[in-house]
Amino acid sequence: MNRVYFDYAATTPVDPQVERKMAPYFSLEFGNPSSIHLLGQIAEAAIENARGIIAGHFNSAESEIIFTSGGTESNNLALRGVGLAQKLAGKNHILISSVEHPAVSKTALQLQNYFGFDVEYIPVDSTGFVDPEIVSQMIKPTTGLVSVIFANNEIGTVNPIESIAKVCHEKSTIFHTDAMQAGNFYKLNCAALQVDLLTFGGHKIYGPKGIGGLYIRKGTPFISTQTGGSQEFGFRGGTHNVPLIVGLAEAVDIAQKSVQKNSERLVPLRDKIIETVLKTIPRSQLTGHASLRMPNHASFAFESVNGNNLLSLLDHSGYACSSGSACKTGSPEPSEVLIALGLESNWALGSLRVTLGKNTVLEEVENFIQALPGIIHNARAYF
Ligand SMILES: *Cc1c(COP(=O)(O)O)cnc(C)c1O
Repeated sequence: MNRVYFDYAATTPVDPQVERKMAPYFSLEFGNPSSIHLLGQIAEAAIENARGIIAGHFNSAESEIIFTSGGTESNNLALRGVGLAQKLAGKNHILISSVEHPAVSKTALQLQNYFGFDVEYIPVDSTGFVDPEIVSQMIKPTTGLVSVIFANNEIGTVNPIESIAKVCHEKSTIFHTDAMQAGNFYKLNCAALQVDLLTFGGHKIYGPKGIGGLYIRKGTPFISTQTGGSQEFGFRGGTHNVPLIVGLAEAVDIAQKSVQKNSERLVPLRDKIIETVLKTIPRSQLTGHASLRMPNHASFAFESVNGNNLLSLLDHSGYACSSGSACKTGSPEPSEVLIALGLESNWALGSLRVTLGKNTVLEEVENFIQALPGIIHNARAYF
């Protein structure tokens, strides 16, 4: 059977060009960048070249780019690193949106439950959009950090990052955004966005898994949470993963150079899916914002459908899709993000996420939208 991949928000295949760039650094140029000898210098040069490529796209200083093991670690590092430093300065209040990835929301929850932080959740509208005005109203003199997701992995909504950063600075607090999903479609120009911290990573942008980074604006209050060697300017100890860092930079470079092309190609395919599904499937609704959404992202809720059951039926028909976040597979609980939008649980349980990518072609989309109504009908029979 022909297998169709519609789950690019969960992960992407590594671009062949990225794979080629990484290859020499596994065995040929295997040095430790911290070593003094030539092999070490070659590895160090590769790391610093990678950092330079990313800093170029982010319009930042090279010393503002820190490599980590991925989006989860970057979000942990941002919240803990800034949170702890700000708490020492008497600011223990943290604001996060109510639609964050668990790497942000669970970290904030732990800081609240075990480390004396006061965490509050910024409400979103029914499309998952964060209003900068509400953020501004919620900031207190003790607010040490605000974190709002750039592009939502589950519902595709894209937030007004620049405006949120602006209100944070007006009220003298620090702003972090999780931009793991954003790199294929939006310029991550940190200077223009005015963010203080930005999470990015490899495997959602055709780079390798297990590698990511954090932009930390110079002067941001910060305490390292992974202590050890003096790598990464003391922000994050540990021997560098040289091949993956090289791959990450190549992936960032390709993604950032093709944001416009990626959008132009995928928006019509995305819109075809959204329009057809809403027209042909009764008791269906779009989740997330109608226009302020990622160009590759279509997400829905269907009344009286078990989402996991739907995913199995789709899988049997050859379609790899997702409901909400990949981490929630197997859990019968409605997603917290969909609940935050105000969906009733008999809708929130029936969520479907269809995300497109570089290998998606029109024919796959056409076949899918033809098959889906029958599959939803079958899923409803089981409910
Ligand atoms: C995938 C993802 C993460 C986690 O990144 P990993 O590299 O898989 O740890 C965090 N936030 C968002 C928005 C994501 O899409």
